[in-house]
Amino acid sequence: MTIRIAIAGARGRMGTAAVKALMNVEDMEVVAALDYKGEGLFLHGESLTDDTSGIPVYTSFDRLAKETEPEILLELTTPDTVYENMHKAITYGIRPVVGTSGLSLEQIEEITTFANENKVGGIIAPNFSIGAVLMMKFSAMASRYLGDIEIIESHHDQKIDAPSGTATKTAEMIKEYRQSHVQGHPEEKEHLPGARGASIDGIRLHSVRLPGLLAHQEVLLGSTGELLTIRHDSFDRSCFMPGIIMAIRNVLDRKDLVYGLEHIIE
Ligand code: NAP
Repeated sequence: MTIRIAIAGARGRMGTAAVKALMNVEDMEVVAALDYKGEGLFLHGESLTDDTSGIPVYTSFDRLAKETEPEILLELTTPDTVYENMHKAITYGIRPVVGTSGLSLEQIEEITTFANENKVGGIIAPNFSIGAVLMMKFSAMASRYLGDIEIIESHHDQKIDAPSGTATKTAEMIKEYRQSHVQGHPEEKEHLPGARGASIDGIRLHSVRLPGLLAHQEVLLGSTGELLTIRHDSFDRSCFMPGIIMAIRNVLDRKDLVYGLEHIIE
């Protein structure tokens, strides 16, 4: 039996890498692409054509669900699209595996409640890279002892949202261990707005956007006379594929929705 997967955002950078990776997994099949254009066409790499050997494209979630009966929706679109697609998927009992960033913490809470009430397994993974998840875990562990922390995330300049989902999730994980407090000088003044970055519970987050970068993050943990730096670099989108495949297998056995790949890495 193959696992039937629909992909939203299949024409995009992550989507094309995912289609290629999943086509090489023996027990997985990409049965449909969900798009906002190209109804009735077929996906070949990044192109939509009428060559029926490609993946069928649907602009209607309802038609996609009824005609192709996927078990999984792999969501790799945009912050504006992801919530509605997840909601639709859960309504049909299709398990969402979500890489798209930009969901607010309130939206994550709402959709988690909705999935759990419907007993539909799923995952929202701000980062599918195993190395990045370990970087987040190690940072959270270290923050118990070194609680003054700044996170610098760097991405390519086509990324729409800031801070990255990974940076936000890292700060959320650190919150579980770190004693909540204000960092820096209590009377600190910003002469240029944004100079000190964003703040989650006093942890500072800085976003760099430059051509040539992919996805990188440094967590700086400072204390008197010392600095611990925990860094992760993604050089190629192939690093996200083992995590996506692991997540697809894992959600088939779940009846709840989890936020973060760390929940399925032992
Ligand atoms: P991208 O290249 O811009 O791909 C997004 C794709 O979604 C585009 O093809 C876009 O089409 C399409 N799209 C837009 N609206 C849509 C809709 N309503 N329905 C279906 N498709 C729609 O972006 P990317 O680099 O692949 O990244 C996609 C998402 O994954 C981003 O949120 C990014 O932050 C996230 N990401 C996650 C991870 C992870 O490990 N979790 C890693 C990397 C990236 P158009 O181009 O025509 O607008």
